[in-house]
Amino acid sequence: MLELENLSIEVGGKQILTNINLSVESGYTNVLFGPNGAGKSALLMSIMGFSGYKITNGKIYFKGEDITDLPLNERAERGLGIMGQRPPNMVGVKLKDLLEITAEECIDLDELVEELNMSSFLERDINVGFSGGEIKRSELLQLAAQAPSFYLLDEPESGVDLVNISQIGMMINKLLHGDIKCAGRRRKEGNSGLVITHTGQILDYIEADKGYILCNGQIMCSGNPRDLLNEIKTKGYQECVTCKIRQS
Ligand code: ADP
Ligand code: MG
Repeated sequence: MLELENLSIEVGGKQILTNINLSVESGYTNVLFGPNGAGKSALLMSIMGFSGYKITNGKIYFKGEDITDLPLNERAERGLGIMGQRPPNMVGVKLKDLLEITAEECIDLDELVEELNMSSFLERDINVGFSGGEIKRSELLQLAAQAPSFYLLDEPESGVDLVNISQIGMMINKLLHGDIKCAGRRRKEGNSGLVITHTGQILDYIEADKGYILCNGQIMCSGNPRDLLNEIKTKGYQECVTCKIRQS
């Protein structure tokens, strides 16, 4: 479904990611761990095609197609969608107006708005004065409305309290399992995803198949996400770096 092949990325003239090899099979969700500044957000932004992230080497394949040089909007049309870590305030843009433009026709917006408890935010400017949890719910609503088949989720639980985490986690689980109404019917096709998590809390809500650890712009190791998380919790990230150095 998604395949990164020897991907290297430069931001602001500085090499941020080096030779990233990562893949996500159709219908599966993989998780990306890594310390602050490792390059996790840069990786997701590059996959989505944001400007400023220069691909200096390697390829991105999506559904078998080379999308390395495609602009962001064409990647979105093919089914990629992102929930950013720190989305900007959009002064003068009401949430309702953006949703009306971006929502797929088949989506039951009212139901999504209700499920995410967002009805009182529709007339407000996007993210302006929203709390941490409200920003994440708003992002998730915007993303769900686009009905992507691949979800790039950048730390969906960061800055969010426990009640919001549960609401967001359950919604992400539904989206990844294709369990949202489209044209009045529940679709049951499995969607796919790549989820960045710092704390691993989101693993309480989603089934993740494989985890990767990114340190210093490189994939250090991969494996069962729960095992990786336990390793990180007991030994921190340094162990992984040492292990990589030993291997090379
Ligand atoms: P993470 O999400 O893993 O915490 P980021 O992907 O946000 O890390 O950042 C990786 C590195 O890239 C950091 O050192 C950050 O300062 C740097 N970086 C990100 N954006 C820019 C930019 N626009 N110009 C220069 N450096 C940047
Ligand atoms: Mg980040």
